[in-house]
Amino acid sequence: MTPTHDQLRTWDRELLWHAFTQMSEYEPLVIQEAHGCILTDIEGRQFIDGVSSLWCNVHGHRHPRLDQAIRDQLDKVAHVTSLGMSNPTTIQLARRLVDLTPETLQHVFFSDDGATAIEVALKMAFQYWHQCTVPRPQKTKYIAYSDAYHGDTLGSVSVGGVSRFHEMFQPLLFDVIRLPSPSLYRRPPGVSAECAADFYLSQLESVLAEQHEKVAALVLEPLVQGAAGMVTQPIGYLEGVRRLTKKYDVLMIADEVAMGMGRTGKMFACEHEAVSPDFLCLAKGITGGYLPLAATLTTTDVWNAFLADYSEFKTFYHGHTYGGNPLGAAAAIACLDIFSEENTLEQLQLKIRHLAEQMKPLWKYPHVGDVRQCGLLAGIELVQNRETKEPFPWTEKRGAHVCEYALSQGVWLRPLGNVVVIIPPLSISLDQINKICDVVEEGISRVTQGSSV
Ligand SMILES: *Cc1c(COP(=O)(O)O)cnc(C)c1O
Repeated sequence: MTPTHDQLRTWDRELLWHAFTQMSEYEPLVIQEAHGCILTDIEGRQFIDGVSSLWCNVHGHRHPRLDQAIRDQLDKVAHVTSLGMSNPTTIQLARRLVDLTPETLQHVFFSDDGATAIEVALKMAFQYWHQCTVPRPQKTKYIAYSDAYHGDTLGSVSVGGVSRFHEMFQPLLFDVIRLPSPSLYRRPPGVSAECAADFYLSQLESVLAEQHEKVAALVLEPLVQGAAGMVTQPIGYLEGVRRLTKKYDVLMIADEVAMGMGRTGKMFACEHEAVSPDFLCLAKGITGGYLPLAATLTTTDVWNAFLADYSEFKTFYHGHTYGGNPLGAAAAIACLDIFSEENTLEQLQLKIRHLAEQMKPLWKYPHVGDVRQCGLLAGIELVQNRETKEPFPWTEKRGAHVCEYALSQGVWLRPLGNVVVIIPPLSISLDQINKICDVVEEGISRVTQGSSV
């Protein structure tokens, strides 16, 4: 028997434990179908998908090309293990990714989520230093950043630095060398925007100079720390990190789980500064936002360190049951095909400029502390005081209230604390961008009106 809407809502509230959600106050929002950038719930209400179904949808929902690719794969085989076995679709995806990413990345390890893509990179980097030509097993530490987010498994949480998510689990985590977030907005006193890159790079260099002998790898979200609140980095920082990690013989892990697949206006964020990391982690948008699939790409140098007679124990003893799943791989190939068939990246440039234009009016609201954008993503930070950048207490849920208003107006958004996030599918129309920005402006006006400055 088909459950009634009331039953669905009750079960959704009482049985289903939602991610990153306080279940005592969860209001069911049950999406029945979606098309393009529009979500439709069981009541027939429609919402613009303003955050790409959590930063992963790329070409819109129910894209015929993607739907068909998955159906076609289903007619062949749904799953083949990657443990000592393969299938043509996954092999072709590996070929495509190696061709598309920076030239030094020549090998792909598939898993299923962003967090697992990071775990793979962390463990490979660690094992690499035991097995490379001149082994340096004392290199066991990682450099990571405040406010970084790399997923929710314990290894990814260890390198993560969002205290509100991660503090509870501190006793379970391994130690990392923590650098301050290289934030362009919240710079230390006396550091101008122009000098910020040099300032943060000199911080990194002093850590490397002192401790590089025990550092296996540095892990960074290139250009933008997403979950931190879409915190953008100064131009030149990424390139400087690559230069310094090379100089001090530390592997570089680029977490492009959120920024990869066109989000920043280029296919990969690293391309903006011509950076070739030692590990590139992809997930979220890689299947167009359809299926769980992740990839960790690495170099021939790393790959070679794991080659030996099996009795030498140089194998990478790590895997996930569904890693490289053919349905996901078929979706990923179709996603890449659409990028070329629809000239997605070219089409995107106008949308990026349009979003910037549409957000300009936001500056007139005194509690808008920052409007930052990278490609087709934006974070609008609400603050108590624009001059001092003093935040609103997070318990006031200013960001959430703006998003509640947006929902009432047919736009679904999900904030990060006091940061209102706009990160729509790359296929969004200019009209839909207008609608999102109008609703965000009205929401901010309502939610900050009358607050003391
Ligand atoms: C979302 C995200 C992850 C984790 O990906 P999951 O698929 O949710 O495990 C890792 N890194 C970054 C930068 C992310 O935004």
